[in-house]
Amino acid sequence: MRYVSTRGATDALSFQDAVLTGLAPDGGLLVPARIPDVTGDLDSLAQLNFVELAKRMLPRFIDDIPAADLENLVDAAYRTFSRPGVVHLEYAGDIPVLELFHGPTLAFKDIALQLLGQLFDHILNRRGQRLNILGATSGDTGSAAIAGVRGRPAIDIFVMYPHGRISPLQELQMTTVTDDNVHCIAVEGSFDDCQRLMKSTFGDLDFKARYALGSINSVNWARVLAQIVYYAYASLKLPAPVSFCVPTGNFGNIFAGYLAKRMGFPIHRLILATNENDILSVFFSTGLYRRGQVRFTISPSMDIQVASNLERFLYYHLQEDPVALRIFMSTFDAVGEARLAPPGDDVFLATAVNTRNTMAAIRQVYRETGYVADPHTAVGLAAARRIDVDGTVACLATAHPAKFPEAVDEAVGQPIARHPALDALANMPSRRTVLSADIAAVKKLVAERAPQAAR
Ligand SMILES: *Cc1c(COP(=O)(O)O)cnc(C)c1O
Repeated sequence: MRYVSTRGATDALSFQDAVLTGLAPDGGLLVPARIPDVTGDLDSLAQLNFVELAKRMLPRFIDDIPAADLENLVDAAYRTFSRPGVVHLEYAGDIPVLELFHGPTLAFKDIALQLLGQLFDHILNRRGQRLNILGATSGDTGSAAIAGVRGRPAIDIFVMYPHGRISPLQELQMTTVTDDNVHCIAVEGSFDDCQRLMKSTFGDLDFKARYALGSINSVNWARVLAQIVYYAYASLKLPAPVSFCVPTGNFGNIFAGYLAKRMGFPIHRLILATNENDILSVFFSTGLYRRGQVRFTISPSMDIQVASNLERFLYYHLQEDPVALRIFMSTFDAVGEARLAPPGDDVFLATAVNTRNTMAAIRQVYRETGYVADPHTAVGLAAARRIDVDGTVACLATAHPAKFPEAVDEAVGQPIARHPALDALANMPSRRTVLSADIAAVKKLVAERAPQAAR
């Protein structure tokens, strides 16, 4: 399988190169040259557990890693989960809830980042190369990325976060990982400063090449690929037709559901649920894509205005026409908005849920069913109650409630959101470097700590 850029100006890449590249050189996102069709195989795929299904599906997208090696990588990635089935189907009353948060950092990002860590390691070792990952995080992504690559000799990871502006628990999940290859950087500034520092460091192409800088953010194709598997799995386990309700920020999770549907898995509708940062729900309802001010909510991993993965959907929606896509994106970049006909296309339904209704959903679902949802999951639960769809509607649970104890405890009215792994963090040694929001300081730190690229 080759990978092509949504902007159409990059030569097709192998899977391995697509994984190491992240963003395509022409500024686009990489997508498979064609979407595999599974409609003839659904009966046999329906017999498989999650890990077996991953082993059967990945080779359809990856032809430059031998199947036996891929199987080992899948086993190693998902051994780190506390549930043998990796994902866990629970019921909140009669609503199926697909729990995706049983990995090492208790958020759904582990499903993709545990596999991506294994893929990076395998590819780099085969090629005799190293990678220095530089990332910026406002919370969950940093810890999941660190958990995916800690202790790997071919990789160092540098994660910047805004000093004093992430939750103490989120900070401890990163800073208590004291492997030599993990470097946590508390930047004296905002999350925007961290992103700006990251972009300008990547923008210095000499520096980028000398230190083999790589990125682990959600534009990486392997992250989408890993996520297709749980949609496939749940669509085959639940009574058809299955719709999914997905709490959404960067459009990475729900886009994997869209691809699973296009592959032929029995998926009916995708309900896109945002918090008050409603740029995506407005777009899917009206066709207007307009950037606003970021609002800070109790579901911080969805406090996003510009959803990087939407570009992949737009590419398919615009009939795989890179010229039409470039026009849409450059209009949006220039004036902060762009418009299409409402792109419902019989798949997506969308709604935004505010903080009050999210808190109410946590409380109500707990009172009625005993199920404790985290605030991100609760945005989805509230959306699923509001939108009427025929057949089964499964809600995706993206974080363990104990990651967000303040909101959950307040909504439920008692201290209920706890997890022993998170309680234990308070007594563990932790390590971080505080830096001013200054590009020279960041480069100096990377240069001091990173082994130079072995090329
Ligand atoms: C990242 C994240 C989301 C949003 O996922 P996207 O792929 O960005 O749409 C939702 N919930 C939690 C807990 C997350 O960490």
